Amino acid sequence: MSRHQPKPASFESPVHVTRPMLPELDAYAEKLRSVWDARWLTNAGANHNTLEERLSHALEASHLSLFNNGTIALTSALKALDISGAVITTPFTFAATVHALAWIGITPVFADIDAATMTLDPRCIEPLITERTSAILGVHVYGIPCDVSGIQAIADRHQLRVIYDGAHAFGSRVGSRPICDFGDVTMLSFHATKLFHTAEGGALISRTSEMKRKIDLLKNFGIEDEATVVLPGINGKMNELQAALGLLTLDMVPRERMKRQRIISIYCSRLAELPGISCPVGADDPESSSFQYFPIRIDVEGAAKSRDLVHAQLKAFNVFTRRYFHPLCSACPCYANLPSAAPGQLPVAQRIAQEVLVLPLYGDLKDDDVHRICDIITYVLGSE
Ligand SMILES: *Cc1c(COP(=O)(O)O)cnc(C)c1O
Repeated sequence: MSRHQPKPASFESPVHVTRPMLPELDAYAEKLRSVWDARWLTNAGANHNTLEERLSHALEASHLSLFNNGTIALTSALKALDISGAVITTPFTFAATVHALAWIGITPVFADIDAATMTLDPRCIEPLITERTSAILGVHVYGIPCDVSGIQAIADRHQLRVIYDGAHAFGSRVGSRPICDFGDVTMLSFHATKLFHTAEGGALISRTSEMKRKIDLLKNFGIEDEATVVLPGINGKMNELQAALGLLTLDMVPRERMKRQRIISIYCSRLAELPGISCPVGADDPESSSFQYFPIRIDVEGAAKSRDLVHAQLKAFNVFTRRYFHPLCSACPCYANLPSAAPGQLPVAQRIAQEVLVLPLYGDLKDDDVHRICDIITYVLGSE
């Protein structure tokens, strides 16, 4: 059928999976003027404090601390909770999740994921718990929530802490509750590739004012006052240039979300029917989705073509999809020798890492472009 379709034209310029939102340059310049006037560039400046308040409100998070990036935030969360020994985590994530553990001498222990949500499978966690285990580090991958109640039940049984990497989960919800309501601490990333961004940036959301206080100390070298350093902290502070950008991009989030929802609904209606292709369930639901990524899965049997071949052939049309998260973190040379990294122990993650393909998703993509991407995917799947 599609074998006989005419070959669609390539895009004139490369289409990537994301494109950062940017406010009008004049609006940013105006914000910068007040920074210049104040000559206050970092260390809990006016923009930092306003952004922290506004994000707390937007995310329904009472205890939010801004950071200079998500990776330092995640490392600081592990420190704030006194995590040591071994931590059970997912191999199906961006390297930073696992690096945050390794960086402070914690052994990552990989557990397999659930085939539907692509997040940690609680059934695979419990058998990996030993006396060295101190926490579970889940990732709400693509903004899809982990099985938060299943994970919490295990944590309660074994007195473990729960930390979430919510880098993709800005605005995700579980039922009527915001995603940051779950776990001891949730990390967010505001990197330029994330929907809400401050170029580089991040945050930790904690459960109590004592924990927020500790986190705020840790991100500023553990300095309590001029004469007192109480904790071995780090420099995790968000500066005024980042925060000023964030105040403007935050205003753009509702519109960006609407545009992304529309794009996802076009993708789903055009692609879900293709043989071997599946779209993530609930991806276009504004009540629960973060609209961070749109990952399809390509089953090599059904599609009669591998994901890798589709990925490669799309490049010829100037469509640059991404195979997030292939290779698995457990396959990276720095972790592949861990006992839990053996491929045979992670069959679901292995399979999904061969199937996922993240498609372009950003507000500036026009409906016509999305249809054109769908035409190209349809053509590629039907061609040799
Ligand atoms: C982006 C990302 C991070 C790292 O955040 P940075 O702000 O870039 O340090 C961590 N985990 C996941 C899953 C990410 O996608």
